Amino acid sequence: MKTIGYAAQSATTPLAPLRFERRELRPNDVAMEVLYCGICHSDLHAARNDWGWSRYPVMPGHEIVGRVTGVGNEVQRHKVGDMVAVGCMVDSCQQCDQCNQGEEQYCRAGNTGTYGGRDRITGEATFGGYSKHLVTREEFVLRVPPGLDPARTGPLLCAGITTFSPLRHWGVGPGSRVGVVGLGGLGHMAVKLAAGLGADVTVMSRSPDKEADAKALGAHRLLVSADADAMKKARSSFDVIIDTVPVKHDLNPYLPLLDIDGTLVLVGQLGPMPETNMVPAITGRRRIAGSLIGGIAQTQELLDFCAARNILPDCEMIRMDQINEAFERMERADVRYRFVIDMASLEG
Ligand code: NAP
Ligand code: ZN
Repeated sequence: MKTIGYAAQSATTPLAPLRFERRELRPNDVAMEVLYCGICHSDLHAARNDWGWSRYPVMPGHEIVGRVTGVGNEVQRHKVGDMVAVGCMVDSCQQCDQCNQGEEQYCRAGNTGTYGGRDRITGEATFGGYSKHLVTREEFVLRVPPGLDPARTGPLLCAGITTFSPLRHWGVGPGSRVGVVGLGGLGHMAVKLAAGLGADVTVMSRSPDKEADAKALGAHRLLVSADADAMKKARSSFDVIIDTVPVKHDLNPYLPLLDIDGTLVLVGQLGPMPETNMVPAITGRRRIAGSLIGGIAQTQELLDFCAARNILPDCEMIRMDQINEAFERMERADVRYRFVIDMASLEG
C-alpha cells in the first residue's frame, strides 16, 4: 500500500515528507490508519544518530494509536474498526525464554524495533508511526480500552510502559518511596504511575519552576537537584529512583539518596556515564540497574490500569509539519509533558 510519512534522510537534515510502501498483509498482520503518534526523546536520538546505529531514512514514532482498516486471514485478536495501539516493538522470535515469559523486549534474538529495525522475514527497514498507515503483526498490536482517550493514549506505549515496568519489577506499591529524575515525557508518566500505585513520590529536577506541575501530576514534593543541602537531607530515603535524563550525567548525587537495598534505575542515557563512586553501593547494598521498555502483556496491563484509574499523559497536540520545531523544543526541555502528532494533519 502506498502511504506517506515524515523521515530524516541524515543526522543533520530536518524531517521531511517521504512517500513509501507499507507491505501487503500477511496472514497474521493488522493494518491501521494512524490517528495519533506521541513524540519520544528516542525519536530525536534516532533521527540525529545519537546512538551511532541509525540507518537512513529514519521514520520515527513508537507511541502509535490507530484504527484497524484490515486484517490478515489468520488474525484472531483484532477486527476492522477497532481502536488499537503499537509501541516500540513490532516483532520478536516468540520462542525464547524471554518471549515465553512476556518479556519480548529482551528477546534473545533481539526484538524488532517499530522503526530502525529489520523485518524478520524480508529484512527491509522498519518505519515508525510518523506516517498515515502501519502494518503490524497482531501479537504486537494492543487494544485501546474503551474509556481511554485515544488522543492521549499514545505516550503510554513508550513513556508509560518504560516507567511502569521498572516500578512493577522493583515492587513499588503503597508506601514505597519513589524518586523520579528529570520531569519530561517519561518522568511525568513515572510520577503519575508511581502515585497511582500508591507510592510517595519525589521529583528531582534541574527546574525549580516545575514544582507546581510536579505536585499537580501527583508528586508529593520536588527536590531541586542543584540544592546541595536538600539533596543531603534526602539521603537514604528512597526505595526506587527512576532516572530519565537523556544525556551523560553524574550519578553521584543520586546513589546516596537510596535507602539500604534501594535501586537506581537508569532508563534515559544509553551510553557511558561519568565515574561513579560505588561506596554507597557497597555500604548499603544499593544497586544501579537499567530497564528497557516493557513486554506486550504488561503494556496491555498498563493500558487497562490507566483506563480503570483515568491516568493519562499531559499532551500538547501538534501538526505533522511542526515536528522539527517540536524536536527543538524537546531538546530545550520545553514540553509539558508530551507532544502528540494529530495524524489527520498529514495529507495523504
Ligand atoms: P524528555 O521529554 O526530553 O525529558 C527528559 C527530561 O530530562 C527533561 O524534561 C529534563 O527534566 C531532563 N533533562 C533534559 N536534559 C537534561 C540535561 N542535559 N541534564 C539533566 N537533565 C536533563 O525525554 P523523554 O522522552 O522522557 O526521554 C528520556 C530518555 O529516555 C531519552 O534518552 C530516551 O531515549 C530514553 N528512553 C528510554 C527508554 C527505555 O526503554 N529505557 C524508552 C523510552 C525513552 P528537568 O527539566 O526536570 O530536569
Ligand atoms: Zn520512546
